[in-house]
Amino acid sequence: MDSKIIDEIAAIVGRGNVLSSLEERKCYSYDGRMDGAIPDLVVFPSSAKEVSQILLLANAYLFPVIPRGSGSGLTGGSVPVNGGVVLSFTRMNKILEIDTKNLIAIVEPGVITYMLQEEVAKYGFFYPPDPASYKYSSIGGNIAECAGGPNSLKYGVTRDYVLGLEVVQPTGEIINTGVRTMKGVVGYDLTRLFVGSEGTLGVVTEIILKLIPQPEAKATILALFQEVDDAAETVSAIIAAKIVPSTIEFMDKASIKCSEQASPMGLPEGIGGLLLIEVDGDKVSIASQAERIKQIVLEKKAIRCEMTEDPKESDRLWQARRTLSQATYNLNPVKIAEDVVVPRSNIPALIHALEEMENKFNIPILSFGHAGDGNFHVSIMIQDTPEHRAKAGEAVKEIFTETIRLGGTLSGEHGIGLSKAAYLGMELSPEIITTMKKIKQLFDPNNILNPGKIFI
Ligand SMILES: Cc1cc2nc3c(=O)[nH]c(=O)nc-3n(C[C@H](O)[C@H](O)[C@H](O)COP(=O)(O)OP(=O)(O)OC[C@H]3O[C@@H](n4cnc5c(N)ncnc54)[C@H](O)[C@@H]3O)c2cc1C
Repeated sequence: MDSKIIDEIAAIVGRGNVLSSLEERKCYSYDGRMDGAIPDLVVFPSSAKEVSQILLLANAYLFPVIPRGSGSGLTGGSVPVNGGVVLSFTRMNKILEIDTKNLIAIVEPGVITYMLQEEVAKYGFFYPPDPASYKYSSIGGNIAECAGGPNSLKYGVTRDYVLGLEVVQPTGEIINTGVRTMKGVVGYDLTRLFVGSEGTLGVVTEIILKLIPQPEAKATILALFQEVDDAAETVSAIIAAKIVPSTIEFMDKASIKCSEQASPMGLPEGIGGLLLIEVDGDKVSIASQAERIKQIVLEKKAIRCEMTEDPKESDRLWQARRTLSQATYNLNPVKIAEDVVVPRSNIPALIHALEEMENKFNIPILSFGHAGDGNFHVSIMIQDTPEHRAKAGEAVKEIFTETIRLGGTLSGEHGIGLSKAAYLGMELSPEIITTMKKIKQLFDPNNILNPGKIFI
């Protein structure tokens, strides 16, 4: 990058908030899915005004700007595929206000999800969105991807908690969308448009979040099934019984084996499916809901059912699920992670299709995740060889084809980014893609902000 531009950027944020050496820039060349695209500069702004000034320069000199939270994304969203300036929000990491009368929090984008949850819990409040990456992902990244997690079944996803945003438009104007109230329908809902826009329509610099009261208690139920179909049918049976657990997590046979080998918790060998179910609320109602779930689980032929309200014991029951993400790398060093969603009634069909694909391609394909939402994290574990990469590419295409055939969607939480851009047309019609591109063009006429993402 031209040293004159670097000097102008340094004049905005201060020389100490700019990284320009190759070694430093390399640290911003990857996310949780992709690597290898080195930015020209990494900049740490401290305010919307600084972000705005950088974007004005970007439009004048035509260089790309890529917002970056913690870089834990799983679709290459913060990877600077065309070079340019990475904007890292680690300095904008303050919880600005917790309004205990109105149950809202106002935060900067670099706040780590977990830190916000811990802080609001001190006041007896709850911020439910809980991606598995919550200990390191940022609220800004969660908003850009509309992150979800185990709690989504009962509490919804990130968009359900965003009341308003301060956004710097790609052309540099600072705008405030949404409200500080529980309702608000004045004009188009730009807040919702920005949530899930993957850092392509605007840079989020401040967020107004809705909080809810912390549930009084929680019960955790671990159920093991010999047959995967029984586990899958249990999910529908619980929902049909009009119980809304906060969480129903699923692990298939390969996932159970993988986590048990990495961190044994005494699960029997060869079991076909595992469900981890949580209910929360007041003490009396959770006890009766947990009992009812236990009945359903046993009716559906669970071979083991453990239930607890004790937090330490609950941690033990979560062990297999928590271990899994890292344990998958014991199978092979490269993970291709997809997060398809199908209607709950089609969960068994998807699971069987994935099993067949594993046999057909002869590479490990594990499926686990938020079964209560029909949202599966399908992990294809491969060697870094052309042969395995080609097989994984074919498998991904088949998984997406099957998902669409079953009435599902290509991504429930991770977004499109770079890794799924080639597949967008499998789900969206040409007319919708054209409309989306027109929206991008309206906000970002020079294609400055996070270019190369979502659309190819
Ligand atoms: C082990 C693991 C488990 C995960 N589990 C889940 C899960 O359960 N659920 C889930 O939803 N995701 C999950 N993820 C994916 C990832 O953590 C989420 O997508 C998260 O929201 C990304 O946050 P981040 O701060 O790391 O953002 P980054 O990866 O840095 O960026 C993600 C996107 O947000 C944009 N962005 C970042 N900050 C801003 C901003 N201030 N303004 C505008 N755009 C911005 C970036 O440009 C990029 O497009 C997981 C990831 C890992 C590694």
